[in-house]
Amino acid sequence: MRKTKIICTIGPSTYGRENLKGLMEAGMDVARINMSHATYDQARTIIYTIRELNKELNKNVGILVDTKGPELCLNTLNGQDYPVQAGDHIIITTEEAGRNKFVINYANLIDDVKKGDRITLGDGKIELVVIDETLEDIICEVKNSGTIRNGIGLNVPNININIDFLSVADKNDIAFASSIDADFLALSFVKNANDVLDINDMLISFRNEHMQIISKIENKSAIEDLDNIIKVSDGIMIARGDLGVEISLEDVPHLQKKIVNASLKSNKICIVATEMLSSMECNLKPTRAEVSDVANAVIEGVDAVTLSGETAVGAYPIETVETMNRIIINMENNLDYDKFKNDKGCNNEESITAIIASNVADSANKLNSKAIVASSLSGYTAKMISCFRPKCPIIVTTPNVQTARGLSINYGTIPVITPMFNSTDEIVENGLKEVQKLIPLEDSTVIITGSFPVNNSNTNFMKIEKID
Ligand code: PEP
Repeated sequence: MRKTKIICTIGPSTYGRENLKGLMEAGMDVARINMSHATYDQARTIIYTIRELNKELNKNVGILVDTKGPELCLNTLNGQDYPVQAGDHIIITTEEAGRNKFVINYANLIDDVKKGDRITLGDGKIELVVIDETLEDIICEVKNSGTIRNGIGLNVPNININIDFLSVADKNDIAFASSIDADFLALSFVKNANDVLDINDMLISFRNEHMQIISKIENKSAIEDLDNIIKVSDGIMIARGDLGVEISLEDVPHLQKKIVNASLKSNKICIVATEMLSSMECNLKPTRAEVSDVANAVIEGVDAVTLSGETAVGAYPIETVETMNRIIINMENNLDYDKFKNDKGCNNEESITAIIASNVADSANKLNSKAIVASSLSGYTAKMISCFRPKCPIIVTTPNVQTARGLSINYGTIPVITPMFNSTDEIVENGLKEVQKLIPLEDSTVIITGSFPVNNSNTNFMKIEKID
């Protein structure tokens, strides 16, 4: 059974019940709705359909709403496309658009950049260099040809832009995500831990205690405040699209390693995103380099990998998820799990739950157990076990639907909705029944963990069940 989770961005290629069902059957664990593109009506329909399909297919696919964030963009004259060549001069202005004049949506850009700075357009596709400035205009030389389309995204690599983290649209999107009971909120362009704390306060004001905050690391200031951002977030997404433009592309791989390790050591969810199988947007087979990229994320021990354009606008969304599923399973079957636990497992072994979780993972690895069963109300125990990256799946029995969906990103967890168990005997007996529905258990062991007395304490027992 695959343990590293798959997040799929939903878009025109995957709208509609049959497409969503196809993604779920192919292995989608979490549906990502990108508010840069989706309308509220589209988002509502996707969420409603997935929740219906969860019941029909007996799954707990989670919903992640991703904010647009403070994106800089240019508007063209009358919304027309404008082709540029290397050597052309163009003007970025706060005034009116013109033939070679483009309006920026952030008036203070002129204060933030200076002569010689590099500006990129369209995720780095067009490069500009600032050659002069006036009070209203930035004059740039174009370094390579391309087309400036209306609304094209603009990045200023290596420069901290003073734009507000939260726009009115973002605030509305967060309120929307809370109102439709999304499981995860991915925050675009987080600059520091205070940004995350502000959103946390906002969720408290909505009385929303369960939507987990995933901070996207995609610029220099977030890298500089990484440890504090990790502390106050539920999880981290390495958003390599914007990160690869905001800092130099060659720095992305070593920063990915650093961010993954720091997140895992702090028991936080870690997600890698963008261009993982991007050639599959138009081809049925990925490149060798893409296969290695997905496998490398598995070796690094991430909780989840993300598909973006591949499932949102690609020609082969289902085949892409199937391919990703196969790459992950193959890599997971070839890991040394004792080493994996030592290298990737979290540091915190101080609480009773953490000590039980660590021992559950060790015992399961030593005994080559077929499954771990964690009886969990809040999901905390299951998350702790997941942090130690055991070899076998963690079947999480819980009566709480929000808990089940909230575990959809965590490595190795398979949440199952069950009635509330009233004794340790019931936890063990029913837990085993649930595992048997999923995995053949002859001649094997299963490790069961929960609390005793039931529902009255934190996880404090572990039972090894031998099955003949
Ligand atoms: C990214 O930049 O890699 C990312 C995941 O964010 P978005 O798709 O919103 O640009």
